[in-house]
Amino acid sequence: MFDLTAEQEMVLSSLEDIARKEFADRAFDWHGEPPWENIELLAKRGFLGINIAEEYGGGGMGEFEAMLSIEAVGTVCPDTAEFLYNQQMVAPRAIEMFGSEEAKDRYIPPVVDGEKAIAIAISEPESGSDVGSMRTTVSDDLVLNGEKIWVSNIKHSDAAVVWVKYPEGLGSLIIEFDWDGVEVQEHYTNMHGGTQSQIRFNDVEIPEENVLTRGKDAFVDQLKALNWERLGCATLANSFSRNAMEKALDYSQQREQFGQPIGDFQGIEWKLADMLTELEAGRMLTYRAALNAHKQGRIPDRLETSMAKLYSTERAEHIVSEALQIHGANGYQQGHPLEYLYRMTRGRRLAAGTDEIQKNQIAAVLKKSGMPDLV
Ligand SMILES: Cc1cc2nc3c(=O)[nH]c(=O)nc-3n(C[C@H](O)[C@H](O)[C@H](O)COP(=O)(O)OP(=O)(O)OC[C@H]3O[C@@H](n4cnc5c(N)ncnc54)[C@H](O)[C@@H]3O)c2cc1C
Repeated sequence: MFDLTAEQEMVLSSLEDIARKEFADRAFDWHGEPPWENIELLAKRGFLGINIAEEYGGGGMGEFEAMLSIEAVGTVCPDTAEFLYNQQMVAPRAIEMFGSEEAKDRYIPPVVDGEKAIAIAISEPESGSDVGSMRTTVSDDLVLNGEKIWVSNIKHSDAAVVWVKYPEGLGSLIIEFDWDGVEVQEHYTNMHGGTQSQIRFNDVEIPEENVLTRGKDAFVDQLKALNWERLGCATLANSFSRNAMEKALDYSQQREQFGQPIGDFQGIEWKLADMLTELEAGRMLTYRAALNAHKQGRIPDRLETSMAKLYSTERAEHIVSEALQIHGANGYQQGHPLEYLYRMTRGRRLAAGTDEIQKNQIAAVLKKSGMPDLV
């Protein structure tokens, strides 16, 4: 699709090779839990945190390379790709971008070494899409109070990046789960088996070095982090689509009905053609947004990011569902990769900003700035 550098080619081909040789056999055995043996292997071979600076143990590459890695792995093992997405595009990345030296030294190396995860806590019981209405507050003397919900990966994390309200506005900081006043209240199990948790903060004292973003630039910084998270989410969804499509293509050539492979019926050929076209359109939108980010200080454009996230995740649900359709009743059985992928893909339309919120973003830019430039 694009001219890749030698380094990008190496990332893609190495990870495709590792995923197919090492992850394929148990690719659908993880039920939403992080596949630690895969994660350790990726860390050992230097493919965890490839977009994190080398001084913290990362690969020193960019987000585009991180996205290539997520796509290569997710085409084979969705849970390993989800871990890569969370730990390369979300909380640890925010710590690397905005954290103090003490915070980077303390929190990033265990992630890049494949030992720990770092969670992200934004949502609250009364504040989901409407992030600005959050009630988790930090006082001037850095005392945190409030509540967060739907936080993924707590069971495997010592720390979380938490979005909060400082007296001067929105910002973020890092907490550790064993600190006084941090109380994990409840764990929920989501549709694909992953754990999401509720946390309460009661007068938690935050050390100065754990403040991430605060003050007049905090909002732009948060946006920078959030837009990369959204592009990572789009990439993850595209990898699920490709994973499902490979299985559907294969099955359609083997399964025979009415004396011929079902893949030779035009009804199935047209499904496959639509699925591939949608997948490639989603990938183009996603990579365009990532590759254009250098134009504005590595912040992906709001319009391009929301279109990529909206289209890729919405189409992924459709593509995976069509792949399941091609598998007939086989694909509908519990334990079949397609039914697992379907449940996993569904969450992507909600996480990192719902479809509706992406549409609001797109419409707001369109109304303010008119049609985007032709080129
Ligand atoms: C798999 C998964 C993992 C997640 N992981 C995390 C995590 O690690 N950390 C974290 O903090 N959160 C996490 N979340 C939560 C996620 O960020 C929220 O679900 C999301 O922001 C939406 O918030 P909500 O669920 O409260 O829905 P609400 O905001 O209550 O929305 C409900 C419905 O109303 C629609 N809606 C709301 N406002 C508007 C509007 N202005 N216009 C049109 N429609 C609107 C929404 O699109 C949605 O369809 C995760 C969610 C999922 C599914």
